[in-house]
Amino acid sequence: MATPDDADVTTPDETRRYHLARRPEGRPDHDTFELRTVDVPEPGPGQALVATQYLSVDPYMRDRMRAGESYSEPWEVGDPLRGGVVGEVVAANGAGVEPGQTVVGNLEWADYSVADGDDLTPVDTGALPTSTALSVLGMPGRTAYFGTREVAEPKAGDTMVISGAAGAVGSVAGQLATLQGADVIGVAGSDEKVEWLTEELGFAGGINYDTEDVGARLDDLAPDGVDVYFDNVGGPITDAVFGRLAVDARVAVCGQIALYNDEELPTGPRKLAKLIETRATVEGFLVRDFAPRFHEATEHLGELVAAGELQYRETITEGLENAPDAFLGLFDGENVGKQLVAVDEE
Ligand code: NAP
Repeated sequence: MATPDDADVTTPDETRRYHLARRPEGRPDHDTFELRTVDVPEPGPGQALVATQYLSVDPYMRDRMRAGESYSEPWEVGDPLRGGVVGEVVAANGAGVEPGQTVVGNLEWADYSVADGDDLTPVDTGALPTSTALSVLGMPGRTAYFGTREVAEPKAGDTMVISGAAGAVGSVAGQLATLQGADVIGVAGSDEKVEWLTEELGFAGGINYDTEDVGARLDDLAPDGVDVYFDNVGGPITDAVFGRLAVDARVAVCGQIALYNDEELPTGPRKLAKLIETRATVEGFLVRDFAPRFHEATEHLGELVAAGELQYRETITEGLENAPDAFLGLFDGENVGKQLVAVDEE
């Protein structure tokens, strides 16, 4: 088995690893998570051992905590939690990657974990930090890219609303739509976030849904209606936007985070009659369906960042032990841009 030449680099015998302690009812809390100390696993044939540098926590993980059908397989109670990880290969067993290489993959919430070489991709973020492989150049950036380009399809002059606008997907989607000539209105949960969208990212307008009446503000900002809606949130914000859709509007349903902790789905959708009146189209999408084109998205997003045309932010929580707090904070809007956990940045 290949291990690093550098004799100073030693892999400990044990690793910390988070497991699903119990299925949450409603909002998850610290009792949802259990941190265990286990032996560092040996990579089998075709596998590699990876030391985690950054771990991604994402809203969809809430769905994996519940039993039953969803678009991602549920975790069983006791299972290790998994997510997007950027890390360094520390041992490889015919895995097609070499010790010392930085890779990205779907790995455990752990200091060290093993993966099949086929599931690891070498990270090439150019001049940008490797963490961007989990943010603007990774899954959220690609979601924004395909959701905007292939589903929402804003045209020059369109009025487009984005919910969850200051998050990982929303902040990138809004900038991409602005570059395509749309007037983008972002809905987010604080004045600081709205200011970031309008003062720095070029959004045409912003609404703080926590302090403002979204419907009334949309009447001011979009008097002719909403041509395109990129929905990350669902719930009352979506009700307010649906009531103001323009004729031939397009709605891209990316996420529904406002509903993820509900045990019973509220009655609805309540405003479908608006689709009759406006002949609007509503389309859900999953970024993984665009996998054969991920390279195209990463390349395009990297070029835009390098040219100074696309900005991104990461909210980085230090320490694997704080990963549950980072995840729970997504439901309180504690992140601006992509929420990550720095496990070992070296
Ligand atoms: P994110 O937006 O970076 O983080 C979640 C944000 O949601 C929070 O910062 C918070 O911001 C907002 N939020 C939380 N609870 C809310 C509520 N009750 N009402 C309104 N806003 C609320 O997360 P992300 O990774 O970019 O994901 C955004 C959405 O896209 C999620 O719904 C996710 O599941 C979905 N998604 C879908 C795909 C796909 O393939 N379809 C891929 C990636 C992500 P505020 O401060 O503004 O409240």
